[in-house]
Amino acid sequence: MSESTTHQDLLVIGGGLVGAAVAAACAGRGLSIAVIEARPPVRNGPADHGDPRVCALNRASQRILSRLGVWGRITELGVSPYRRMEVWDAIGGGRIQFDSADLGEPDLGHIVENRILQSALWERLEHCPEVTLIAPARIMDLTLGAESALVTLHDGRQIAARLVVGADGRDSRVREFAGIGTRGWDYDQRAIVTTARTEWPHAETAWQRFLPTGPVAFLPLADGRCSIVWSAVEGYAQTLLALSDEAFCEALGEAIEHRLGRILAVGPRTAFALRLQHATNYCQPRLALVGDAAHAVHPLAGQGLNLGLLDAAELAAAIDRAIDRGRDIGSFATLRRYERARRGDNWVMLLAFDGLKRLFGNDQAWLAFARSLGLGLTDRLGPVKNHLGATALGIRGALPPLARP
Ligand SMILES: Cc1cc2nc3c(=O)[nH]c(=O)nc-3n(C[C@H](O)[C@H](O)[C@H](O)COP(=O)(O)OP(=O)(O)OC[C@H]3O[C@@H](n4cnc5c(N)ncnc54)[C@H](O)[C@@H]3O)c2cc1C
Repeated sequence: MSESTTHQDLLVIGGGLVGAAVAAACAGRGLSIAVIEARPPVRNGPADHGDPRVCALNRASQRILSRLGVWGRITELGVSPYRRMEVWDAIGGGRIQFDSADLGEPDLGHIVENRILQSALWERLEHCPEVTLIAPARIMDLTLGAESALVTLHDGRQIAARLVVGADGRDSRVREFAGIGTRGWDYDQRAIVTTARTEWPHAETAWQRFLPTGPVAFLPLADGRCSIVWSAVEGYAQTLLALSDEAFCEALGEAIEHRLGRILAVGPRTAFALRLQHATNYCQPRLALVGDAAHAVHPLAGQGLNLGLLDAAELAAAIDRAIDRGRDIGSFATLRRYERARRGDNWVMLLAFDGLKRLFGNDQAWLAFARSLGLGLTDRLGPVKNHLGATALGIRGALPPLARP
């Protein structure tokens, strides 16, 4: 540690959606906090700036973002509530519909552009005097010691911290430096993300059709367009990416069985390789992993960020508790509490989404028949369906304080 080394209580590596949420959740507790982010800060620029993705946020995420003081700003910048969800199988024809009214809820969640979430969270951090934002900057080295962790940045600057949080995404360098392994597999699929204008209105409904090559989802946006997430096996995804806009509109319309009429126009297409990945552990003394650095899931259930925000809320709760009891925020005992609360739950969700992906990706006739029967039955069994709906909304099970009603 050199003389010019600066010191922080909490150092968050990666100021994406989950890292920024961790910093915001820990602000106001007397900690000095720094966030290191590789990209320049995201402002509310033109719609095609930055991350083209949107997220379907459930109620638990909405509560967390409200408690962090950013939900108001997010709604100002633009969100789209969705009140119904319709999911159906291309082969067997089975379908299931969810309606927020059946759950006694005003909506099933909100579709929000990642760029809006990111800029609202950054704005919030810029107003926290105890938070220092260091961007653009990259972490080049990490050493975990008994009393503190030492991070070296690309320009040679060094920062020591009592706790380092790795929120640097699926290919986390922090996880690598800490020697934490992962389990998982590639899906050999790509998610093509774009926007579409459709002939008929989206009716505040999230539509998803399972094709043997992967699911296609239409998510309602506030301006009447839909955000498209079309997951397809590698070869087919390449074909779709190479199509002209007209041909892609035609293919997209067919993929969703023209449920919203003709596809009138589409935006630029971006593709994301898909993988299931889970860190073998979430913490070590002086280190915790959150969000995609800890777990990456298939987007078919739209839950990756929802899980990441629960990580942020649970880690903040563990840190709060340590502060209240005068304990070390970076000790293994503090961080194990966080890991115990999240890792098991995340595994269950990861495997459930993986199971859905495999079940619907199989075109054997008997399986298609069985799953369509299952979908149809579930659709008619009110209590089972409501249980599934409440799980997706994130209003069931043990929740961290920030996510509770
Ligand atoms: C197609 C698609 C659709 C999705 N839809 C949904 C959805 O509907 N609902 C939902 O809940 N989730 C969804 N997800 C998942 C969601 O997008 C992710 O779970 C979420 O963005 C993860 O956030 P994060 O902050 O953990 O990681 P990231 O968003 O990957 O952020 C990591 C940050 O760390 C920074 N960084 C990386 N390396 C370094 C370094 N060395 N030094 C400093 N900074 C670094 C990066 O610049 C980045 O800002 C979807 C994902 C995909 C691919």
